[in-house]
Amino acid sequence: MTVSPDTDADADLRLDGNAAAGVLDQLFAFEITAAVATCNGCGHETAVGALDVYDQQMGAVLRCPGCDQMMLVATKLRGVIRLDMRGVRVLQVPVLG
Ligand SMILES: [Zn+2]
Repeated sequence: MTVSPDTDADADLRLDGNAAAGVLDQLFAFEITAAVATCNGCGHETAVGALDVYDQQMGAVLRCPGCDQMMLVATKLRGVIRLDMRGVRVLQVPVLG
């Protein structure tokens, strides 16, 4: 899945990471949008809910708002959710309680 958000049309399609909450909530038992992800490309730390989301046809592609690198790709196909996190260096999950 390749997305090149270089045009104004792409910017019109861009949502924030909260738009991916539906598919990610099925995978994680914690509030994933509150987790902080460190970009493997530029080191920028961002709440997952603040990442840029470009495609939701089969899941979600979440990109770094700092350098535009693809950080998370969540796809849902034939009853399976697949998460590619190779663009995330570290994922910090808040501990509740
Ligand atoms: Zn980055």
